[in-house]
Amino acid sequence: TRTSISSVNPYTNEVIREFPAMTEEELDRAVETAHDAFQSWRWLAAAERAAVVRMAGELLVERKDEFARTITLEMGKRIGESYDEVDLVADILRYYGQHGPGMLTDRTVPVDEGSAVVANRPLGPLLGIMPWNYPLYQVARFAAPNLVAGNTILLKHASNCPQSAILLERLFRDAGAPEGVYTNLLVPAAGIGRVIDNRLIQGVSLTGSDRAGERTAERAGRNIEKTVLELGGSDPFIVLDGKDFDRTVEAAVVGRMSNMGQSCVSAKRMIIVGDLFVEFVERLRDRFAEFAPGDPLDPATTLAPLSSEKAAENLAAQVRDTVSQGATLVIGGGRPDRPGAFMDATILVDVRPGMRAYDEELFGPVAVVYQVADEDEAVALANDNPYGLGGAVFCRDLDRARRVAERLDTGMVWINHPTSSRPELPFGGIKCSGYGRELSDLGIQEFLNKKLIRSF
Ligand code: NDP
Repeated sequence: TRTSISSVNPYTNEVIREFPAMTEEELDRAVETAHDAFQSWRWLAAAERAAVVRMAGELLVERKDEFARTITLEMGKRIGESYDEVDLVADILRYYGQHGPGMLTDRTVPVDEGSAVVANRPLGPLLGIMPWNYPLYQVARFAAPNLVAGNTILLKHASNCPQSAILLERLFRDAGAPEGVYTNLLVPAAGIGRVIDNRLIQGVSLTGSDRAGERTAERAGRNIEKTVLELGGSDPFIVLDGKDFDRTVEAAVVGRMSNMGQSCVSAKRMIIVGDLFVEFVERLRDRFAEFAPGDPLDPATTLAPLSSEKAAENLAAQVRDTVSQGATLVIGGGRPDRPGAFMDATILVDVRPGMRAYDEELFGPVAVVYQVADEDEAVALANDNPYGLGGAVFCRDLDRARRVAERLDTGMVWINHPTSSRPELPFGGIKCSGYGRELSDLGIQEFLNKKLIRSF
């Protein structure tokens, strides 16, 4: 029997479309086709593969209205942000289309006798398991470098964005990817284990929750498949001084409210040194008060729904429990009285260890603001967390900011700017945020056979 995968508009909670999930036989056949396609794709010149990825970037620009609208209808982000995502993804596709081949150059190792070359060779079909928060970007940063490298891709997207997933498959096909080079797998999480178990799969990359990461890495481990994991985060946003305070507050708003806070690198824990705390909270409250719910397709809307009713309910429960544990609500805290997966723009203070908002990731428009006495306390609080993805430090004294950045146990730190992502910069974390890197030359190296050819 077939299960189905539904596209639900979180603004109305209405089902837009339903798709039958793939059967086990269809999944097996898709993996075999990706394996067969690899046998020719791997031997093309990297420049030929790059040309396909570059073309996907060009086509995406032509199709930007269709893509942006689909993202917004499926997961609810504000339409302007959907266009921003399309632009970033076009940049990523063009970047690897242009620079990818140069990142794959063989390396010669100096030896006493003869020669030694370390060649970068693809591994084979890879499985990507991706989340809904950036339906295009999450896929592109995995697929673009790996396609240029010569791997083939099977993509299991989140069950709530099947239409975005289908558009992406069509994009790569229309850009010239032969059948089997990029294949969308319409399958719920419960059905993906069979694909991981398939011995033709050579690696798995997952972006999503810790739980999904644990399960996937465990299963892949049993099959000796390498994994890259980009899991949750609870990034610190540390404010050390009050210089350019307007800009700092604005960065905090952007850092927390971009994508309605549904980003792994959102500014989830704001840590303010000294008396600045009081003014910071007031200013943030004034800005959060401006967020009003509306249709995410309307460019004037400030507060969009979350990705699903379940996501909004979970977040509201985290806030409710934290308040009942003794935290203070500065603004928001509930759900607007209207249909759709909305959650108020919310600020919490007086949050302490043992409360849910202290220990868990808050995936939505909820800022937690902490007051600390000094730099050392800021660092200690920032590092007192299971995650280690990104972080931001605000301070006009760059030496001081860099000293604090150095002490943060995270994979990325941005100074005087909210944590962000660019095609040329590595992205990834440590601790429970996962391992491996995406994007940059580091990202393209993750699923390569570093093949030694030693000759005499
Ligand atoms: P999930 O981790 O459940 O979903 C992400 C992807 O993993 C989806 O494709 C999902 O498939 C798949 N998946 C889920 N469970 C498994 C499993 N056991 N084995 C293999 N694949 C699996 O995230 P949710 O959407 O449920 O969000 C829950 C929380 O996860 C969020 O509140 C947030 O904290 C975190 N998250 C973090 C993201 C990030 O960017 N770091 C992105 C998304 C979520 P399916 O949709 O079919 O279940």
